[in-house]
Amino acid sequence: MAVKLPIYMDHHATTPVAPEVFEAMRPFFLEQFGNAASRSHAFGWAAEGAVETARAEVAQLIGCRPIEVVFTSGATESDNLALKGVAYAYRDKGTHLVTSAVEHPAVLDTCKHLEKEGFQVTYLPVDRHGMVDPDDVAKAVTPKTTLVSVMLASNEVGTIQPLAEIGRICKAKGVLLHSDAVQGVGKIPVKVDGLGVDLLSLTAHKLYGPKGVGALYVRMGSPRVRLVPQMDGGGHEKGRRSGTLNVPGIVGLGKACELSGRLMAPEAARLVALRERLRAGLFVRLDHLHLNGHPTQRLPGNLNLSFDFVDGEAGEALLLSLKEIAVSSGSACTSASMQASHVLRAMGIGDDLAHTSIRFGLGRSNTEEEVDYACGRIVEEVTRLRALGSFS
Ligand SMILES: *Cc1c(COP(=O)(O)O)cnc(C)c1O
Repeated sequence: MAVKLPIYMDHHATTPVAPEVFEAMRPFFLEQFGNAASRSHAFGWAAEGAVETARAEVAQLIGCRPIEVVFTSGATESDNLALKGVAYAYRDKGTHLVTSAVEHPAVLDTCKHLEKEGFQVTYLPVDRHGMVDPDDVAKAVTPKTTLVSVMLASNEVGTIQPLAEIGRICKAKGVLLHSDAVQGVGKIPVKVDGLGVDLLSLTAHKLYGPKGVGALYVRMGSPRVRLVPQMDGGGHEKGRRSGTLNVPGIVGLGKACELSGRLMAPEAARLVALRERLRAGLFVRLDHLHLNGHPTQRLPGNLNLSFDFVDGEAGEALLLSLKEIAVSSGSACTSASMQASHVLRAMGIGDDLAHTSIRFGLGRSNTEEEVDYACGRIVEEVTRLRALGSFS
């Protein structure tokens, strides 16, 4: 059977809304359109009930209490709320934060903002696989440190960080731990207590839910995390995030969490098999290619490769010649400019190899036939570009 083109292999950038998720959301646009804050009529009660069901579904997936889930507009907002919220709330204790060099811009740019306001930030290095050394976390924390923020899994190279170990260090040192867990939630088991995180960001559109809705987990037990809200207004979400709740979006996020939790184990196994099929197919048929990211501690659907002897100057020649396969080079957020990805640079990968890197993000829709088609086309294009280049 011929594969249908174009093929989507960029599931780290976003995912389609699952049909079940779309159906769950539909009534909350059309009939059940009430404001979840309206306490005096049935429309409001229905909306509020749906929001609380969704809150329980999110909580169930990450192993927390529903009251610890704060709905936001997505992970960028969740990261901002976590970092700024904690930095400001604990300013009297200290003004030092610790993060890693490979975080998403939603974390790194928030740290830059805090530095302009007088906070100090330590950016931890990573090894050649993109992994943070927990010992470096231990060394970086000072009595003035209030927050450590390390992502769960890389959106570029798929490396899964040793977060549970980092969590134990933070707990021992009495420092709060935040994790941008966007790429891991719904793909690999994520439980806040197992990881030892006090705050955790997630977003619906990376797990087959709608764009523009996410959540921040904020620990309420011990320790009870204090946060300075970043939006003034009606005091929604127990004062942690004002603004009328996006009821259909929240319903979609809840359903997406419930569905991902149910499908996780078989889907992860299927994606690992597809990814290994793609990796093996390329490594057998091409020489001089490199795997970026950790060989085993990586997200099921992630494959990131760099190709030697492909003219990097032509920029994204390789990507452009693969128009019918939606993949990306480095992070989608930086591929508009010709800057090598900060993640690959932090891993010590040179500019030439960084410029020829391709990130495959396999997901629910992908099939063996698509993987085989992509493999064949990449072999064809890499071979063609190498023959054209001055290296041949
Ligand atoms: C996509 C992504 C974000 C941003 O999420 P939005 O909901 O689009 O704001 C943050 N962190 C990581 C790791 C991501 O992959």
